Amino acid sequence: MELQNGHYTLQGFDVGELVSRYQTPLYLYDTSVIQHQIGRLQKAFDVPELGIHFACKALNNIHILKLMKDWGIGLDTVSIQEIWIAKRAGFPPERILYTPNCVGTDEIEMAIQEGVQINVDHIETLEYIGHHHPGTKVGIRINPHVMAGGHEKLSVGHIDSKFGISIYQLPLVLRLVDALKLRVNGLHMHTGSDILDSGVFRLAAEILFDAARKFSDLEFIDFGSGIKVAYKADDVYTDVEELGQVLSESFNNFCREYGKPLKLYLEPGKFLVSEAGYFLVRTNVIKQTPSTVFAGVDSGLNHLIRPMFYDAYHHIFNLSHPLGKPRVYNIVGYICETDTFANNRVVAEIRPGDILCFKNAGAYCYTMSSNYNSRFRPAEVMLHGGRDHLIRERETLEDLLRHQQELI
Ligand SMILES: *Cc1c(COP(=O)(O)O)cnc(C)c1O
Repeated sequence: MELQNGHYTLQGFDVGELVSRYQTPLYLYDTSVIQHQIGRLQKAFDVPELGIHFACKALNNIHILKLMKDWGIGLDTVSIQEIWIAKRAGFPPERILYTPNCVGTDEIEMAIQEGVQINVDHIETLEYIGHHHPGTKVGIRINPHVMAGGHEKLSVGHIDSKFGISIYQLPLVLRLVDALKLRVNGLHMHTGSDILDSGVFRLAAEILFDAARKFSDLEFIDFGSGIKVAYKADDVYTDVEELGQVLSESFNNFCREYGKPLKLYLEPGKFLVSEAGYFLVRTNVIKQTPSTVFAGVDSGLNHLIRPMFYDAYHHIFNLSHPLGKPRVYNIVGYICETDTFANNRVVAEIRPGDILCFKNAGAYCYTMSSNYNSRFRPAEVMLHGGRDHLIRERETLEDLLRHQQELI
């Protein structure tokens, strides 16, 4: 977003004008950012076949997913419902990965019927597939136990993690593969969001290659994601160009040794969409207490929970008063619960009615929203091809009551 003559613009649109038209709270997505990020990954990796699968739990609006399909990438799903949405968006099953955790065999069964590539993360699921669906190709999600991740809740590779099949259980996996004639066509790892550097990736990759040497029919190796993006100016973020170079080199070496060009899969969520999204809210009140100046806005943890859930930092600026005198605020929501978006944050002077804009609101924002306090979920607007498109309406009272039965 750029400041031009006192107005913030995005893709040539006056954002204040979009806000007057669509009202707040509002999610706004700039699709050119997504396309740019896909291009960066494609350029960074130099391998025979790169398969980018967008982790759609980050942003699941079907219009965005349809664009991803047109741009030639696949999806990574974590639930049967995400598989159904992927199908509705027009993805063929061969472009859908399914990497669930702690789901029952009923859901595994449905995923097999849908014909998608499953990455199994539980020994008993392997046994189930071997017994009931011999011949079905499966990927195995390995937990390499590499410590990574920016926040305890985002780190999934450590020893206490519930994700994946432990690398220490590999001998048991191999015994099952042999006994049940399992067709293992891929190995997978996802060591958690917010990995800081390519050194950690490389370390985990080497562990995965070691495991891969024990399987003879692999078609792909999936390095998951964990690519970190910057949420503030001085944040550390993953250098994907360096990551691409480092990983491509060790991957190509491995393929040469393996005797076959495998496909390299990635499952970026945040990297593709975080910076494409903005969240716009209106200031309801400026409330001065003995110790603090609160800016209370027309949203809360019901619409954007990352600051409360992960202590995530989202940059916030005053869209209505960009040149106002900088002052210190606690920016809080209207939910009856402590829902602080930002503590002691310097923002250009905020007046009641001012529109505040949150950056990095494309990933894990709308998808983690709820109806807590019986509030409606926001609208979503996408800027694409020089036009603004309303891609999800704001909810109404009917949405809140829709599945509640009328009792007589
Ligand atoms: C959530 C998830 C991702 C995406 O992680 P990001 O940090 O958003 O890139 C990738 N793979 C799996 C299996 C996931 O669960």
